[in-house]
Amino acid sequence: MQNLLHNLNEEQLAAVTLPAQSALILAGAGSGKTRVLTTRIAWLIQTGQVSPSGILAVTFTNKAAKEMLTRLSAMLPINTRGMWIGTFHGLCNRLLRTHHRDAALPQTFQILDTQDQLSAIKRLLKAQNVDDEKFPPKDVMYFINGAKDQGLRAHDIEPYNADERKKVELYQLYDDQCQREGVVDFAELLLRTYELLSRNQPLREHYQQRFQHILVDEFQDTNDLQYKWLKLLSGHGGQQGGVLFAVGDDDQSIYAFRGANVGNMSAFEREFNVKNLIKLEQNYRSHGHILDAANVLIANNSKRLGKNLRTDAGHGEQLRVYEANSDLSEASWIIEETKNLIHDGASRSEIAVLYRSNAQSRVIEHALFSAGIPYHVYGGLRYFQRAEVKHAIAYLQLMDNPHNDSAFLRVVNFPARGIGVRSIETLQAAADQYRVSLYAAVPYVTGKAGTSLAGFVKLIEGTRFETQQMALPELVRIVLEQSTLLSHYATEKEGADRIENLEQMVSAATQFLSEEGYGQGAPAHLGPQAQASSGTAVVNEDGFEILDADAPLATVMSPLSAFLSHASLEAGDNQATIGQEAVQMMTVHSAKGLEFNNVFITGLEEGLFPHESSSREHDGVEEERRLMYVAITRARQRLYLSFAQTRMLHGQTRYNMKSRFFEELPEDALKWLTPKVQQSWFGGRKSAWDEAPLVGSDNAIAQKFAAKAISTGGGWRIGESVAHAKFGEGVIVNIEGSGNNARAQINFGAAGMKVLDLSIAKLDRI
Ligand code: ATP
Ligand code: MG
Repeated sequence: MQNLLHNLNEEQLAAVTLPAQSALILAGAGSGKTRVLTTRIAWLIQTGQVSPSGILAVTFTNKAAKEMLTRLSAMLPINTRGMWIGTFHGLCNRLLRTHHRDAALPQTFQILDTQDQLSAIKRLLKAQNVDDEKFPPKDVMYFINGAKDQGLRAHDIEPYNADERKKVELYQLYDDQCQREGVVDFAELLLRTYELLSRNQPLREHYQQRFQHILVDEFQDTNDLQYKWLKLLSGHGGQQGGVLFAVGDDDQSIYAFRGANVGNMSAFEREFNVKNLIKLEQNYRSHGHILDAANVLIANNSKRLGKNLRTDAGHGEQLRVYEANSDLSEASWIIEETKNLIHDGASRSEIAVLYRSNAQSRVIEHALFSAGIPYHVYGGLRYFQRAEVKHAIAYLQLMDNPHNDSAFLRVVNFPARGIGVRSIETLQAAADQYRVSLYAAVPYVTGKAGTSLAGFVKLIEGTRFETQQMALPELVRIVLEQSTLLSHYATEKEGADRIENLEQMVSAATQFLSEEGYGQGAPAHLGPQAQASSGTAVVNEDGFEILDADAPLATVMSPLSAFLSHASLEAGDNQATIGQEAVQMMTVHSAKGLEFNNVFITGLEEGLFPHESSSREHDGVEEERRLMYVAITRARQRLYLSFAQTRMLHGQTRYNMKSRFFEELPEDALKWLTPKVQQSWFGGRKSAWDEAPLVGSDNAIAQKFAAKAISTGGGWRIGESVAHAKFGEGVIVNIEGSGNNARAQINFGAAGMKVLDLSIAKLDRI
């Protein structure tokens, strides 16, 4: 038997081997929380305290769940496939599929990712003639999701004014629409499961008895409903149900904007009467200076449960700080340092570039691309979020559930088949009148529109019939052809990439089948026999028949349904997957739980990080500081911090001060690569940002500088005099970038210093 416990320290060992009682492991970043949680599962199984099916473990991302399963199979000689380890969404999906009838859902219900949800809401607002200036679709979506995250249905909400009353009404209509179409959004997955378990006593008791040990990672980021869900399943403290083992770090709570409630940690301690509170303070990830920086920074937060981190790793290197003139030069510097790291033997996948918002990535991406350094961006459009892939998925969804109106609308006229807005309006009216799905309403439409629509229905029915006995990869291939998506993109100028993405879906389906343990040849659709005999029925004392969750997945979810859920859940997961031999670029949020030898934290400017929205929100700066703490603690050996004096964001040039976080970091942990005072291009002169008019002798300096280094940007030269309609006359003092990215910094004297995009600005030579 493998000794699972030999590589744990004393506190970790105590945590792993706690008796079967509620426990909270409160510990800082890199102290081995995730390791403790995984090892505890292995230990519980190895010592025979629980069988693998008695475990329910919740992780924050699909990727983390997979990793946990891989680690478990390395530790134990068991088949981990089928274990209940996953995200809240993934686990709920599985429960709802198994008990779809009790949950009042069609077996083939489909999951709306955020993008689909937004279009469903837009559609609703239009149908209801709602002014979308007054009720922007996004606001309505946040309202609905916010309510669901708190466990509230429309009828639970007491509106406090007319606007809110309208939103509540829309919430109800939206829920009705989803129910009609057989679709559920992410928040609904949780709420529906919660309602199912709280209303259905036999079912609840069944699962309470089944899951003897419930373990949750990243507990600080659970929202109210997730916490209620855990409480319900664990029979509130283990009297009737399982034992809850939660690990988390209050300093890493970074999802308040999505409803996460760090207060769940203290609520858990109180409500579950937690006697076992273990703190882990030894950090195994980062070198000393990095850890010091993290500790000192986070000490500025007032609301903390209190803990510290120490390391035996020694000080290591100081954090390198760089002040750039602009976002472009920040990117160039990142490229230079990256090259040095690679030259010194660093693996590209051990270099991470982190930023606060996605919009910052473009400039860095461009620089990496130009330098020929492979990189991978996370949080941008993922495979299952790309338009062509979503089109193909919509066709597949219609194979499984033609009443999914979102899928129907996405592809009814894509590729174009002469079904215009008018036809859709007529169809929508018929659907409303008969209260049926768009698909079911087609026979009610007459005339030319009716004929085209009937043609579409025929295509769907025909393909469905043809693929009846086919395995999933083959079905995907036929759908790509019959839908004419492939031939459509073949005629597009830049369609080659899209075709490649579409073809990848066949391999994605093959890979999915083997990962999920379906036979490669299993029919993609669920046959009627399989539906009738699904699963192992368990009869409890009340004679109530319960389909046990151990029912082979293949009998509760057809390969097609399973694949479609997988696609939606992947599309909604904003976590990075690492491992590729490429520089890893991601937002700080997506970096949670990950670690890298070398980390860049970029754009450390007021307004960006901390983000400007934080000044408006209660607790905003503290949340940003936690985010910075998460960012710092991703690094093992080397950490770079950078900021830029000017930055082009959303088409505007911003002049930013460096982030307040620099003042909060311990000075001796920092190594300034540029002088700590603001730097200029003129070798130590106070600053080009004083906006002092550049005339006379200053102008001479600019000229001298220009003589030394002449850069061209669309024919412009440093030192050249120019005129601008609004700012008057000025002198170009610097040019950065080239081609369409070229920008000039121009001193307009009285009008001050400006950075203008040379491809846009109207400048005359004088
Ligand atoms: P985060 O808060 O970022 O999620 P965490 O507390 O979950 O971090 P882990 O990811 O579990 O920390 O561990 C951090 C690193 O330290 C990992 O590389 C892990 O393998 C290593 N580690 C944890 N415990 C030990 C130990 N006792 N001995 C050696 N290495 C350890
Ligand atoms: Mg972790």
